[in-house]
Amino acid sequence: MFPIGVAALLRAAGSPYDARMNSSPTSSSLHALFNAQHQASRQQIDVPLAVRRDRLLRIKALLDDHGPALAQAVQADFGVRSPQLTEIADLFVLRTLLSHTLKALPKWMKPQKVSTPLYLQPSHAYLQRQPLGVVGVVSPWNYPVQLSLGPVITALAAGNRVMLKPSELTPKTSALLAELIGKAFAADELCVVQGDGELAAEFSGLPFDHLFFTGSTAVGRIVAKAAAANLTPTTLELGGKSPCVIDASCDLNTAAIKIAHGKLLNAGQTCIAPDYVLLPKGKEAAFGDAFANAVAKLFPTIAGNPDYAAIISPRHHERLQAMLAQAEREGARVQVMGEGADAASGEPRQMAPALVFGAQADSRLLAEEIFGPILPVLPYDSLKDAIDYINARPRPLALYWFGTDTASRDQVLAQTVSGGVTVNDTLMHIAHENLPFGGVGESGWGSYHGEAGFLRLSQQKPVLVQSKWAKGDLFYPPYGKRFDQVMGLLRRWL
Ligand code: NAD
Repeated sequence: MFPIGVAALLRAAGSPYDARMNSSPTSSSLHALFNAQHQASRQQIDVPLAVRRDRLLRIKALLDDHGPALAQAVQADFGVRSPQLTEIADLFVLRTLLSHTLKALPKWMKPQKVSTPLYLQPSHAYLQRQPLGVVGVVSPWNYPVQLSLGPVITALAAGNRVMLKPSELTPKTSALLAELIGKAFAADELCVVQGDGELAAEFSGLPFDHLFFTGSTAVGRIVAKAAAANLTPTTLELGGKSPCVIDASCDLNTAAIKIAHGKLLNAGQTCIAPDYVLLPKGKEAAFGDAFANAVAKLFPTIAGNPDYAAIISPRHHERLQAMLAQAEREGARVQVMGEGADAASGEPRQMAPALVFGAQADSRLLAEEIFGPILPVLPYDSLKDAIDYINARPRPLALYWFGTDTASRDQVLAQTVSGGVTVNDTLMHIAHENLPFGGVGESGWGSYHGEAGFLRLSQQKPVLVQSKWAKGDLFYPPYGKRFDQVMGLLRRWL
């Protein structure tokens, strides 16, 4: 069976079909697509396991057959972004998500029995897990395959229809995703719409049953407002400044390579990359040396190194350069490692990693999410100072702690709130399928991965099944002595 294509669907809906549909839908075709998905979701509310499995297996086939082409598209969008990085950070992550989901889905879909309190017995109760309907997914450019298809897989597993709006900053990847998905799925099952912020704003105004947004905190605020107008619940996977706390008990060389890896993967363009380092005062020079050695090991060269990603766009590159220039102008010491590319003369924007010591508290480096290969280092006098610094700022998406002193570790973990934590490494908590992934406060709300994601995009409908032996009429009016006796008994029992 051929899936119903976007064009056929729109023609059937009497909507003007834009020949560039997969590149930029018109407003009316966007609404027609939504209406088609909405109608389909209401016609098939109970989505059986076999249908969900089939959809997931089609995504799996898409990755198996076109993984290298997707990696090439990402590479072309970035200028430099190694296919191996896409293999591990996009494709592998999606394969593990698919494999975990396919295995666990029969169990997740089952009604979940809950125990029944004495006063309601002998009724019984359970939670029925149902699809929400139509889920909108808006995704960013930094891991454009993972962050598009991850929420899509989760939404399909939960039995939903899905409309995906990938980033305009990775146009080749988005176009390929649109083409592959268009071939493998009916448009009322899963479709891709492409466009810029303007289209995205219209997209977020559609009355989805859930809107799953991954991107910046600034745009997240706009999305939350647009969704609120429809009372559409959202999951916001946002950004922020994730601290990396180095304890006095830490071996700096061991920590430095892990921090360098987490920071420089994708040239710092990772939502959970360490944004800044807090370390005991006096250890700055030793950390600088250890970090420089780590960088030299991971990336012996910067310009022309196929393993070291380029900055996504001239605008992003200029922003990072401006942050660095401001810090330097204001007296910070900047330790640059390696030779960056000459972006001004048209080379791919491979920006050399830099540590920054002594940045001003109100500098852009310390005020904004960096999202690039610059790492400010902030010395602290006492662990309490480090904790206070973190708590005086918006709650971060991730926190990293390095050391061997478990009492100190527990103090930091107990006294700070973040979306997630990895101890003695960076990034790794995102890869654990049994750990929900998401932010808190300004770094987002709602989480996904594993069963948490399935539940986020499902309705858990509480069902109570009354028994013919139930004695509910004891509570019916007219109220009198019998009612008072029963309530008296219950009060004593509770
Ligand atoms: P962005 O917010 O600029 O864009 C994300 C998406 O939002 C894009 O598809 C864009 O077209 C769309 N968009 C733009 N304007 C919109 C509007 N008015 N309404 C609705 N959607 C709109 O983010 P980005 O630059 O693509 O990604 C980088 C940011 O994303 C960083 O802040 C990073 O920390 C964050 N991020 C978070 C996670 C996470 O899982 N928490 C993962 C990756 C990236």
